[in-house]
Amino acid sequence: MKSAPQRLKTVLTSLRLGALMDWDMPIDSGPVPESGSVFDAIVVGGGPGGSGAAGFMAMNGLKVLLVEKAVWPRDKTCGDAVGGKSLKHVEELGVKVDLEKTPHFRVDSIIFGGPNGREVRIPLPEEEVENREAGYSLPRRQFDTLLFRNSNEKVLESGGAVIQNFTVKEVHIEGDAVRGITGIHDGESLHYTAPLTIGAGGYNCPVARAITAHHDEPMVDKAHYCGAYREYWTGVEGCGDWKGSIEIHFIDGVLPGYFWIFPVGNGVVNVGIGMVITEMDKQKVKLRGLQDWVINESPKFSKRFANAKVVEKSGKGWQLPFGSPRKNPPSFQPRRTAMAGAMCVGDAASLVDPFTGEGIGNALLSAKMASTIFDLEIHKEGFTSESAIEYQDKLWEELSPELTNSHKLQRLVKRRWLMNIFISKAVKKVELQRALTDMISSKEAQGQFHTKWWMIKSLLF
Ligand SMILES: Cc1cc2nc3c(=O)[nH]c(=O)nc-3n(C[C@H](O)[C@H](O)[C@H](O)COP(=O)(O)OP(=O)(O)OC[C@H]3O[C@@H](n4cnc5c(N)ncnc54)[C@H](O)[C@@H]3O)c2cc1C
Repeated sequence: MKSAPQRLKTVLTSLRLGALMDWDMPIDSGPVPESGSVFDAIVVGGGPGGSGAAGFMAMNGLKVLLVEKAVWPRDKTCGDAVGGKSLKHVEELGVKVDLEKTPHFRVDSIIFGGPNGREVRIPLPEEEVENREAGYSLPRRQFDTLLFRNSNEKVLESGGAVIQNFTVKEVHIEGDAVRGITGIHDGESLHYTAPLTIGAGGYNCPVARAITAHHDEPMVDKAHYCGAYREYWTGVEGCGDWKGSIEIHFIDGVLPGYFWIFPVGNGVVNVGIGMVITEMDKQKVKLRGLQDWVINESPKFSKRFANAKVVEKSGKGWQLPFGSPRKNPPSFQPRRTAMAGAMCVGDAASLVDPFTGEGIGNALLSAKMASTIFDLEIHKEGFTSESAIEYQDKLWEELSPELTNSHKLQRLVKRRWLMNIFISKAVKKVELQRALTDMISSKEAQGQFHTKWWMIKSLLF
């Protein structure tokens, strides 16, 4: 058995970024508060959603308890692309400068590949790349550590507490309100209370489970959950080291999902595959096997991976809860994500973009919104059910246009012939490329993208 620092070094060396790291150190979270302590707010989970919520609430002067199951630095299975929406909030939290001091890949374009093998490269607006707003890709181990370290500092400075290696086992509901949590840390059971508990525990968040179970509503809707599998590779042909394209390929056998190739810096590339779970069940596919086939046997990609090497033990599967609108939701869209005493953010609130698979931006956006709605003066005795409804309504008002469009785009991808014609046209037509650039960089422009008239115009003229 390797010691912890030795294990850390092995992982870093295997990602070939080891020599460049200075952020990858353990984070000191200070003393563990006594069981029974009371806080202004408890945050469950320290990913982007939880770190964001804890950071924003600490900036508002609240006494926050942030608890996280893992010990930092920790990995999170992801494509590792951090878009402009995320960067806006990362800047607000004061992490962007630190992030830019660490190694990262600058995304200047996106390559889309069609089922017939044709590809179009869509450049991102030059000024945004110049201003470094277009987007980065970097390992989540690095990105999340920077965010968590920042929130750890902010929470401790504002009189709160942070506990790593703390697994929430129970969410307490008294009457009709969430009142606190019990969890295990170093084998000891600890209990904390607060007028508000934020659920930021990802796709299987215990707070989200407690909210949906309390209302006898489903937590998981397989038609709106995506399975995904990721590996890190080195030596993949055609990938930039520090700046260039990320690639999304719609391949026969993988449709209506996609295969991605996202460089994360220094020749390391995040490679993965994702598909809606109901489609996986229908097609009876295993994503790992599918990815092996794409990399080793598909005529197009096997050449690019001929001299590539997989980073040992980097293969991991995970789930993405989509924010697409439900046809007959039992309650709120995309599902109930708040009640008296609790609000969920990020994946716990099912907010992943159903077309691109991006979820970091919406995790940070919902974290900011939750921190704005909670007001200690008003909610001293408990976050009210009226405010919970206000949060869910505001969240859907803000996100429904883009999530609804993305859902339509996701459905469009199912039509192989349409994708082929569309990508072939885009290769030739500069105006169509410009429209796609707009669509990627501006969520408003996405609105026109899925309209039938726009599609017909683009395909015919
Ligand atoms: C394969 C894949 C590729 C993706 N690619 C992208 C991409 O390129 N760009 C993008 O923007 N998004 C991407 N996403 C989505 C993105 O990863 C998520 O949307 C994002 O991580 C959500 O952040 P979060 O903070 O809500 O949850 P998470 O990042 O999942 O964080 C949840 C945290 O809660 C902790 N936790 C869980 N249970 C407990 C418990 N019981 N007690 C205490 N702590 C707990 C976990 O340890 C974890 O640290 C991808 C997802 C997958 C699976």
